[in-house]
Amino acid sequence: MKRIVILGAGESGAGAAILAKEKGLDVFVSDMGTIKPEYQALLNEHHIAFESGQHTEALILNADEVIKSPGIPLTAPLIQKLVNQGTPIISEIEFAARYTSAKMICITGSNGKTTTTSLIYDMLRRAGLDVGLAGNIGNSLALQVAHEDHAYYVIELSSFQLDNMYDFRADIAILLNITPDHLDRYDFQFQNYVNAKFRITQNQTAQQAFIYWAEDPVIDREIARIQPRATLYPFGANKHNMAYTDGEHLIVGADPQIEPLSIDIEALALRGKHNQLNSMAATLAAQILHIKNDIIRESLTLFAGVDHRLQYVATVKGVRYINDSKATNVNSCWYALESMTTPTVLILGGKDKGNDYSEIDDLVREKCHTLVFMGLHNEKLHEHFDHFGLQIIDTNNLHDAVQACYHAAHDGDTVLLSPCCASFDLFKSYEDRGEQFMNAVRQL
Ligand code: ADP
Repeated sequence: MKRIVILGAGESGAGAAILAKEKGLDVFVSDMGTIKPEYQALLNEHHIAFESGQHTEALILNADEVIKSPGIPLTAPLIQKLVNQGTPIISEIEFAARYTSAKMICITGSNGKTTTTSLIYDMLRRAGLDVGLAGNIGNSLALQVAHEDHAYYVIELSSFQLDNMYDFRADIAILLNITPDHLDRYDFQFQNYVNAKFRITQNQTAQQAFIYWAEDPVIDREIARIQPRATLYPFGANKHNMAYTDGEHLIVGADPQIEPLSIDIEALALRGKHNQLNSMAATLAAQILHIKNDIIRESLTLFAGVDHRLQYVATVKGVRYINDSKATNVNSCWYALESMTTPTVLILGGKDKGNDYSEIDDLVREKCHTLVFMGLHNEKLHEHFDHFGLQIIDTNNLHDAVQACYHAAHDGDTVLLSPCCASFDLFKSYEDRGEQFMNAVRQL
């Protein structure tokens, strides 16, 4: 019997284990950390052998195939041993896709994945299609394939998931943008990260679609270099694209036989230039799937957005508070600042992943009068921003940061939490950071 070893028992690992068991494979799950009680219960319920808090090599190195959690780096000693002995290592998505014939709509990019994935899911549901949401959000693809297989899946893919995908083929692949992120996992070589993102197009032929932001210089260069075989659907500001904006409307026409959809930018539920791009990408995907423009329009105007992304929290003494905790890199903060229409107090800081803050220099000068640093190590922020002549306030916890904003902001201003950094120095996750921020604001 084929032996499958699953490393990491989070949402994707537990789902993969259940699917493998149901397909009659010999399954073993191993997690170096503590497996959450709900996943332990699930594994027990399905009579799946597992270990928590250790990796027993004798039970792992004899695998025919390994399914690795995207969180485990290639450099981990155990992974290196598996690689050296030639054991195939795949991702949960690669594994699950073997057992379904559903159409796969896959979204990647440095920023905007969750928003775009959720918007496409909303469009497909409004159209009455049998659709599942998977990848970094919702239940794992494997669990859905095992228990309630759908006709379509909308899948958010990180570069880490793409790293271990080989035979998988996306029916519709979307690449939103590529800016430096996670370089610590890619030998600090940007090109390695770019290559990982472009794996979303692998195995595609002219029957499949590749939707991408045409004005991203990195994507543009790579397309010229690797010449993807898929049918191309570029979007951006230029009117030669399949989807573009004239400054007042989005105009999207994936199918030349059908009247393009034109929608007033002011009518879009999601605000900001970045969300115009996300909306174009989502609309192209929906049109390729023959969803009617009326339904797409309904979704574009009513979609409620995703928590922790430019999420309005409250107005206190005339000051609007916005939670953009998900801005864990500099580029997403750029887009958040770009969408600000009032003087802004910006909260920055956290776990720096090798950030270059100069990308937001101009917008910080133009929009912000105060910067509040919130992190265990604010030295790099001081070094970069102190000479700007703005008010700078140094804090190392959320309570002090929100109080500092409260005192620094004037009637009509916006306080924006868009930290450019990961949250792990002070918080469990970006969600935890966003929740704590919103609670603190509500108590003002
Ligand atoms: P991801 O899932 O890729 O992390 P999200 O949809 O969660 O992306 O958005 C993360 C952050 O990125 C948000 O704070 C938002 O302001 C910003 N963002 C969203 N879409 C884009 C885009 N197309 N380009 C740049 N930044 C974006």
